[in-house]
Amino acid sequence: MLVLEREAHQGKGSTGKSMGGVRAQFTTPVNIQMSKYSIDFFSKFDEVVGHPADYRAHGYLFCATNEKHLAYLRANMERQKALGVTNVEWISPDDISKMVPQLRVDDVLGGTFCPTDGFVDPHSVMMGFMLNAREKGVRLWLDTTVTGIEVENDRITAVETSRGMVATNVVVNAAGAWAAQIAEMAGAELPVEPLRRQLVPTEPFDQLPQRFPMVIDMSTGFHFRREGKGILLAWNDPKETPGFKTEFDETFVEKILTHAASRVPVLAEAGVNPRRAWAGLYEMTPDHHAIIGPAPNVEGLYFVNGFSGHGVMHSPASGKIAAALVLEGQSALIDANQLSVTRFAEGRTLEETAVL
Ligand SMILES: Cc1cc2nc3c(=O)[nH]c(=O)nc-3n(C[C@H](O)[C@H](O)[C@H](O)COP(=O)(O)OP(=O)(O)OC[C@H]3O[C@@H](n4cnc5c(N)ncnc54)[C@H](O)[C@@H]3O)c2cc1C
Repeated sequence: MLVLEREAHQGKGSTGKSMGGVRAQFTTPVNIQMSKYSIDFFSKFDEVVGHPADYRAHGYLFCATNEKHLAYLRANMERQKALGVTNVEWISPDDISKMVPQLRVDDVLGGTFCPTDGFVDPHSVMMGFMLNAREKGVRLWLDTTVTGIEVENDRITAVETSRGMVATNVVVNAAGAWAAQIAEMAGAELPVEPLRRQLVPTEPFDQLPQRFPMVIDMSTGFHFRREGKGILLAWNDPKETPGFKTEFDETFVEKILTHAASRVPVLAEAGVNPRRAWAGLYEMTPDHHAIIGPAPNVEGLYFVNGFSGHGVMHSPASGKIAAALVLEGQSALIDANQLSVTRFAEGRTLEETAVL
């Protein structure tokens, strides 16, 4: 097996830009199942993979300020519990205040908390998987761009790279936000679009607890967590438009700080150096679910794409499902047909509304 990476190092795509959040608090059964498997895997990653993932079970706390969001959280919690995520808890505004006393809760009606949600170090997860694979004989070619895919009689025969041709009958497309271009090289269509996401770290800040969950203010989508001595601030600007935009937009700082100070007034005092902020690409699909499985018209081409912002947390499940599909044609973990690219043409789209 051979992994091809065009950069001099792995992780320069979305993985190295990720916030590292992992959560089982999703809406659809397939996302909940993938998270459940993955979080359990992260809890023993170091032992199983032989390298650290830095999984921290600090939890995710969703806070609702209106009846619609409250009902949504309750329905999600019931579904999560039914699928075996039994430790999701209903949480009152008083309990929320105890967890994060600096949070303004005067308009908060309640929320949900799952203590096994939390964070991993995305770079460590990627390195851990890759080092383990290399120990098992997988080869990695860095500085190698895939420039074409040869198909004969609707079957993959080779990959053309900046280092020459590689004969193969199987190609797994794991090209993140660039996946549609790779699919196109084989004459396949893949509805994956890049969408910029921006993160802003604060300077060291000790006015929030050393340890607290990822907090999501559902009224605006603003969320934050501790990152070392500072706080990592995130908010998905609804005005963002698709495209390969990887420059950080400095006007974003004021927008995010407005949401931050509104929910956590002490954050108005946090220092921010825009040069330490960064932007990366989500790889969006029309229904915000991953596309995993074979391409319908090109034998030997498999997609592991379109994570829509959840690719780090779902990496253990995705790898397991993709490997089973390539080797056995089916996955015991989920009904993989749900994630097939054919769902778009067949009108079987899923809808995940818990996208952060
Ligand atoms: C700001 C931000 C925050 C995020 N937060 C979270 C989070 O909290 N939790 C979470 O789970 N996910 C999060 N994500 C999403 C997550 O980072 C992605 O879903 C995940 O990293 C996708 O991994 P990947 O390996 O599929 O893609 P990538 O990490 O992008 O890797 C794709 C690789 O393909 C290579 N490549 C592309 N084209 C070619 C070519 N022609 N030839 C050779 N190589 C090629 C690229 O160089 C790249 O290294 C976040 C993303 C961003 C941008």
